[in-house]
Amino acid sequence: MANNEPVRVLHVFDTTLRDGEQSPGCSMNLPEKLAVARRLERLRVDVVEAGFPASSPGDLESVKAIAGVIKDCTVAGLCRALEKDIDAAREALAGAVAPRIHIFLATSPIHMEYKLKMRPEQVLERAVSAVQYAKQFCSAVEFSAEDAFRSDRDFVCRVFAAVIAAGAVVVNAPDTVGYAMPEEFAGFIRYIKAHTPNMEQARLSVHCHNDLGLAVANSLAAIGAGADQVECTVNGIGERAGNASLEEIVMGLRVRKDYLGVETRIDTTQLYTASRLVSQVTGVKVQPHKAVVGDNAFAHEAGVHQHGVLANRATYEIMTPESIGIPKNRMVLGKHSGRHAFEERLTDLGLSLNEALVEQIFAQFKLLADKKKVVSDRDIEALVMDASASAPETWKLDRWVVNCGSTLSSTSTIRLQHRDGEVQEQAAVGDGPIDAAFKAINRIIGKEPALEAYELGAITGGEDAQGQTLVKIRWNGRHWNGRGVSTDVVESSIKAYIGAINALEWEWLSHTSSSGSVQA
Ligand code: MN
Repeated sequence: MANNEPVRVLHVFDTTLRDGEQSPGCSMNLPEKLAVARRLERLRVDVVEAGFPASSPGDLESVKAIAGVIKDCTVAGLCRALEKDIDAAREALAGAVAPRIHIFLATSPIHMEYKLKMRPEQVLERAVSAVQYAKQFCSAVEFSAEDAFRSDRDFVCRVFAAVIAAGAVVVNAPDTVGYAMPEEFAGFIRYIKAHTPNMEQARLSVHCHNDLGLAVANSLAAIGAGADQVECTVNGIGERAGNASLEEIVMGLRVRKDYLGVETRIDTTQLYTASRLVSQVTGVKVQPHKAVVGDNAFAHEAGVHQHGVLANRATYEIMTPESIGIPKNRMVLGKHSGRHAFEERLTDLGLSLNEALVEQIFAQFKLLADKKKVVSDRDIEALVMDASASAPETWKLDRWVVNCGSTLSSTSTIRLQHRDGEVQEQAAVGDGPIDAAFKAINRIIGKEPALEAYELGAITGGEDAQGQTLVKIRWNGRHWNGRGVSTDVVESSIKAYIGAINALEWEWLSHTSSSGSVQA
């Protein structure tokens, strides 16, 4: 880039709550979605895509709830090019400060012929009429040509020109199946910019998938070629191999601003906590060597590297851990730490909570500090997650017992309290203590959800580490997650299971629904 060119400001469109959330194992319940949305607002993304309102009543409700709390970002809802989808998005986004209706329709020969069963001219007409319809209710309409990269380029340009004329303010050219190579994708974007006559009246967006590990490379290549908006997700979660990773794109632009000459309004010091939060709520771990936010991203192991870094960090570091918000080594918190130090740590971790919640978590912190010498940042994050991103407690654990060993079947007795005050107790025999406990809980709740995943890990190292359990259950075709933390792994498992049951009970009560699944 020439030195006298002005810096361009790129819009960051986050789709963690839509493309990310609809991918296997990444479903979130409403309190979790709200926690992520608030974190994205703090991160200062330009657009939060909150969901796909027409896909299920639950999705509509969560988009509505997010639209009601987010003030500093545009909130988008995804729709097919159908009036009923646009009506659902309109309803869901009614309370948003800055709503955006995001319509998608496929333009590639294979999608048009086999999925849509429509001819190109029909697709063009449908795209225009959908944008015109949405435009009556919302000035900010985005149109995505699904599978744009595998489409006829001139057809994409015709569709874009037509939808821009109909009022679309953003047109998105996704590489839906992660097929493009970076140079090739840059050429595609340049072609669209050059051959869409009214392109200057709208922003050109890209949305890349990672099937060949190139989502970030393709996104950056497209930005270099003039794209004005990038669609991405925290930790790169998303369909199949995932979407382009937000933190990698943002840090790529920041570290190599000399080369790309593009800025975003992202507060990069929020990247690390955003990554941690998404990993916590989905239970999907970040690989240790993941760029930017992986545990090893700033670790230097080889002697020669350590020597260099001690002499001058810049020998082996192109960015600092502080620039993405990794906290520096600090005083440890323990049983003698006061409320002031605790609150300061919450602030450092980017966890802003209301007074009542701070009170509640501080009390739990004190209990934990009695059991453990040192309470780590990860322990605190887990306490906050438990308190702020869990569904209301339909059932609460009152008491539990398990008996297990090598000679007899395991048994468990569980007592739960219902939110209306009633206490219920059941016992069960099982294949191991956890199975016995879950079966006893099933007897109490009168449902038998399938256990889809069970994962047990330690939050930190050391003998007194807390165990964290993640449970995923399936019932009537839908999925729910629960997390549980305790210094006892049986208790953390029971809490996780009850957490998932509470998410189920709460969402099932508020809206019986079926989950839709559409790729875009
Ligand atoms: Mn996608």
